[in-house]
Amino acid sequence: MSNDALPWKNKYLELLDKQEKNEAFYNTHIDLLKRGLIRSSLAAEGNDKQLDDSLQGLRRILRANASNTDLEQQIEFLEKAVLKSEQKAIERKAAISAVLTSFIEQLQQLQPPKEVQRALRLFAKNLSAKISQPYSLYPLLYELKELQQQTLQASTASHTAPASAAQGLLARLFKNNNQAANIAVAEQQLQAEPGVVADVIEPDAEQATTFSEASSAITSAPAESDDDYALQRLIEPSYSSVAQHIHNTLIALLNDLPFSSGYEQQLSALRTRIEQGLNWYELAPLLDELAIIIIAIANGGKNELEQYLLQLNHRLTAFSENLQVTSAGYQAASADAQKLDNDLRQHVSHIHDDVQTADDLNHLKQLVETRLDSFINSLQAYQQKRVLSDSDMLSRFQALAEHSQQMEHEAQQLSIKLEEQRRKALLDPLTGIANRAALTERLELEFARIQRNNSSLLLTIIDIDHFKRINDDYGHLAGDKVLKIIAQELSKRLRKTDFIARFGGEEYVILLPETPLAEGKKLIETLRLVIQACPFHFRGEPVTITFSAGIGQICPQESLDDAFERIDQALYAAKKAGRNSIIASELNSQL
Ligand code: GH3
Ligand code: MG
Ligand code: MG
Repeated sequence: MSNDALPWKNKYLELLDKQEKNEAFYNTHIDLLKRGLIRSSLAAEGNDKQLDDSLQGLRRILRANASNTDLEQQIEFLEKAVLKSEQKAIERKAAISAVLTSFIEQLQQLQPPKEVQRALRLFAKNLSAKISQPYSLYPLLYELKELQQQTLQASTASHTAPASAAQGLLARLFKNNNQAANIAVAEQQLQAEPGVVADVIEPDAEQATTFSEASSAITSAPAESDDDYALQRLIEPSYSSVAQHIHNTLIALLNDLPFSSGYEQQLSALRTRIEQGLNWYELAPLLDELAIIIIAIANGGKNELEQYLLQLNHRLTAFSENLQVTSAGYQAASADAQKLDNDLRQHVSHIHDDVQTADDLNHLKQLVETRLDSFINSLQAYQQKRVLSDSDMLSRFQALAEHSQQMEHEAQQLSIKLEEQRRKALLDPLTGIANRAALTERLELEFARIQRNNSSLLLTIIDIDHFKRINDDYGHLAGDKVLKIIAQELSKRLRKTDFIARFGGEEYVILLPETPLAEGKKLIETLRLVIQACPFHFRGEPVTITFSAGIGQICPQESLDDAFERIDQALYAAKKAGRNSIIASELNSQL
C-alpha cells in the first residue's frame, strides 16, 4: 500500500469504529425507550377499553421488533384512542360534578347550621375547578363525607324532625332504604328507659271513681302526644346496644338476692361471667342457671322462714319456762317469808313460855340466849336465801327483756324484707300493672268475700286482636310499647275498687266487684272504644288496635276454675264472632 493510501485507511477505520460505537449507543437507547414505552403503556392501562387495546398492540409490535410501517400504523391507532379517551374523561368529570352538585343540594335542603351551609356553598363553587385536577376525586369525596356527617348530626340532634329528615335524605339518596333511619330511631328508643306505671295495689289518684266518669272517659282522657302512639319498624337491637341495660339489671338482681343463701359460690361465678361481658348466646344459659338458683333460694327462703319460726318457738318456750321459774321463785320467796314469820312467832312464844315458867334467873337468861340465837339464825338464813333468789331473779328478768327485744327486732326486719319481696313479686315489669300472681291472690280474696257475703264479682278477660301481626309488622319493641300503652289506658279508667292485671302475653284480666253484669259490660264496651280510638300510627298511617273480651259474674257456688273457664269460652266466642267485640257469659242456671 502506498504512503498516500495510509491516511485514508486510518480515517476509514476511525469512522468505522465511531459508527460501531454510535450503533451500540442507539441500540441501547432504542432498547431503553422500548422498555420505557412498554412500562408506560402498562401503567396507562385501565382507563379506557379502546386505549387499552391500542396499547396492547403497541407492546406487541415493540416486543416483536416489527417493521416501521407496522409501528407507524399502530401509533396512528393509539393517537385516535388517546383523543377519544380524553373526550370521555371530560364527559365523566362533568357527570361526577353533576352528581356531587345534586348531593350538595340535598344536604342543603336539610338546612344544616350556618357554618355547614357556608362550607357546602364553597364546596359547590370550587367543584368544577377541583374536579379537573388529577386524582381529585378521593379528597373531594372525603370532604363531602365530612360535610354530610355534620349535616346529619345537626339534623338528628335538633330533634325537630329527626326521623322524617333522616328518612327524607336517605330515601332520596338511597331510594327507600330506611335502615339507617331505623337504626337512629331504634337507638333513641333504646336510650329511653321504660317508665313504671301507677302502683296497682293502691291505684292512681287520677282514676275514675264512678262508672259515669269511666264511661265518659273516651273524650275526657288527657290528650296524649301523637308521638306516644307512634310505631316504628324498629330494628331488633344488637346485643351491644342492650348489653349495658342487661348488665345493670342482672347485677341489681344478684345484689337483691340474700347474701347468705348457701349459693354464694354459684352466684359469684355468675357475677364474674356477667362482668366479663355477655352476648346473646351466653345470655340464655346464664338466665337458665340464674333461674334455677333463684328457685332454690326461694325454696330455701321458705326453709329459712320455717327455721326462723322454729327458733322463735324455741325461744318462746324458753321464755315461758323462764317465766315459770321466776314466778315459782316468787312463790318460794313468799313461802320463805311465811316460814320466817312462823319461826319468829314460835321463838317469841317459846320465850314467852320460858319467862312464865322460869324460877331461876340464870337459867332463864341461858334459855333466852339460846332462843335468841335460833331467832337470829332463822333471820340470817332467811336473809341469805332472799339475797340469793333476788339476784337470780334479776338476771332472769334481764335475760327475758333482752330476748324479747331481740325477737321483736328480728321479726320486724323479716317482715319488712318479706313485704318488699312480696310487692316486687306482684308487679308485671313490662307494664307496671299487677301480674298473674297478684291476680290469683286478689281473686282468692274477692272470692272468699263473695262467699262470705253472698255478693257478686264480675270477671273480664281481655285479649288483643291479631297481636302477632303487630310484632310481625313492627317488631317486638313496638309490640311491647303497645302492651304498655294499653295497660295504662285501661287502668286509668277503672275505679279504685276495681283491679287489673296482665294475665299473660297480650291478655289482661279486670275484676269489677259489686257490679251488675249490664253495667260492667257497658264499661268494658267503653274501654273497647277507647283502645280502638288510640291514635297508634306507623309512618303517618293510622294503625288500629282492638281487643276482644269475655265477661261474666263469678258466683259463690261455682269454683273459681269453672268460672274462669266459662268466661274464657265467652272470649273465644268473641274471637270467633269476628273480634273487636265483647261477649257476656251467662251463669249456669243450676247454680
Ligand atoms: P288473636 O286475635 O286470635 O288473639 O290473635 P293473636 O295474634 O293476638 O294471638 P296469638 O295468641 O296467636 O299471639 C299472641 C302473640 O303475642 C304471640 C306472642 O309472640 C306475642 N306476645 C306475647 N307476649 C309478648 C310480649 O311481652 N311482648 C311482645 N311484643 N309480644 C308478646
Ligand atoms: Mg292470646
Ligand atoms: Mg290475641
